[in-house]
Amino acid sequence: MSKSISIIGSGINGLLTAFYISNSDPEISITIYEADSHPANESGQKGTTLGSKDARHITGSESICFESSVHHQALRNYPSSIQPGWLLKDESKLSSNELMWRDKFEKLYTHNKGVTELDYAHAELNYKGLKAWHDLASKYPKIERHFLTQDVVRVYFESRSSLLDDFKMECDFSDRYYPIQKVIQSDGLDILNTYKSHLLVPGMSVQIKSLALELIDILERSPKVNFHWNTVIEDSTRLDTDAIIWTAGATHQQPLEYKEMYIQGIVGCWATVKNPGFTKPFKIAAPIPSAYMNLTPDGDTLHISGGFGWVGATTDKSEVEQLAKPVARHLIEQIHKFLDIDVSIEEIEYCIRPSTPSGLPLMKTVVKDSKKHIYISGSSKSGTTHAPILSEYVLDQF
Ligand SMILES: Cc1cc2nc3c(=O)[nH]c(=O)nc-3n(C[C@H](O)[C@H](O)[C@H](O)COP(=O)(O)OP(=O)(O)OC[C@H]3O[C@@H](n4cnc5c(N)ncnc54)[C@H](O)[C@@H]3O)c2cc1C
Repeated sequence: MSKSISIIGSGINGLLTAFYISNSDPEISITIYEADSHPANESGQKGTTLGSKDARHITGSESICFESSVHHQALRNYPSSIQPGWLLKDESKLSSNELMWRDKFEKLYTHNKGVTELDYAHAELNYKGLKAWHDLASKYPKIERHFLTQDVVRVYFESRSSLLDDFKMECDFSDRYYPIQKVIQSDGLDILNTYKSHLLVPGMSVQIKSLALELIDILERSPKVNFHWNTVIEDSTRLDTDAIIWTAGATHQQPLEYKEMYIQGIVGCWATVKNPGFTKPFKIAAPIPSAYMNLTPDGDTLHISGGFGWVGATTDKSEVEQLAKPVARHLIEQIHKFLDIDVSIEEIEYCIRPSTPSGLPLMKTVVKDSKKHIYISGSSKSGTTHAPILSEYVLDQF
């Protein structure tokens, strides 16, 4: 293994990778560069992990392609007609890079009707990620204490017939990858009476931000780990370490030089409201505007998260907000309709969630000037779920 490593980015992927490397060989020097300030001191971070709210689901359902035909159709809708969709930017304003990425995204969805091998690839990765998180939590109590639940997440399916295919698909995945788990199908009304079908999928929910702070604390105590906050790396070829690991999400151009990566930003949004009494995390599988809406109770608080639009290469949060606001109104309507909870547009915060067209994570190693440059990024909904797998991928490179 190399003796010195640079990591760019202190989101969940950068921190967990540093944790894995440090545990595998405490003699390795690790330097972590982060564009933002230390998250314990300030707010306003931009990263997907540190810049958003404290809830994520880790389930077998993350990022399975969801009702492909709706996605494909939604790609064409701008800005937010009846079906607000993925394309938030006016087509005429897209750069050539963005157009290329859009076409790639669209092509994948056009050929992706029904359950495909891609869906199985997702499911397999999700279940591997879930297992890896379980293993981590059982080994390290300091990690475990940031998990809100460790058993199941309930998924509610809208009763529209097109979504029943997705419901069947989820049942199929649960049967195939997690046969011990009983899939519960119900016609009865639980909390959400719009939904006819729901099932329990194996999964857990985690307070990602407090876990990230914990990892920072653990790493800061290691004499071989150094953090450089407020430090933007423009050109990693100048870093004088044996290996360089990019975990910058969708927020930096350098990884995008590799065209095959095609990683871009999807708008993520958060609202934190008073918890009306939910005890278990759940998802609502409704296509518009958010493919899956995550709801995570955390004591008196309920975190609601969704994602609904492609913003091209934008990393500017205020531009993202401008693009997303019209679509967010639909999200608010949904929350009100399904949960009878009032959320105002001011309560919604926006962030960028990195995504590849396939939704699969990004893993690439390039050797330049006899140094290894490793690029990893969790994609869209499943970046937390896949994080330990990506960290293991990095370890395998040495
Ligand atoms: C609303 C929302 C809900 C989500 N829900 C789920 C979920 O339920 N389950 C799930 O599995 N996943 C979920 N995700 C996805 C998951 O949260 C992300 O994929 C994951 O947090 C990404 O982590 P990361 O470390 O790859 O990137 P980030 O957290 O974005 O970290 C990258 C870091 O790199 C820094 N950086 C960038 N460029 C540079 C540079 N040049 N120099 C120095 N530093 C730089 C940034 O400041 C940032 O802190 C969700 C995402 C969002 C937005």
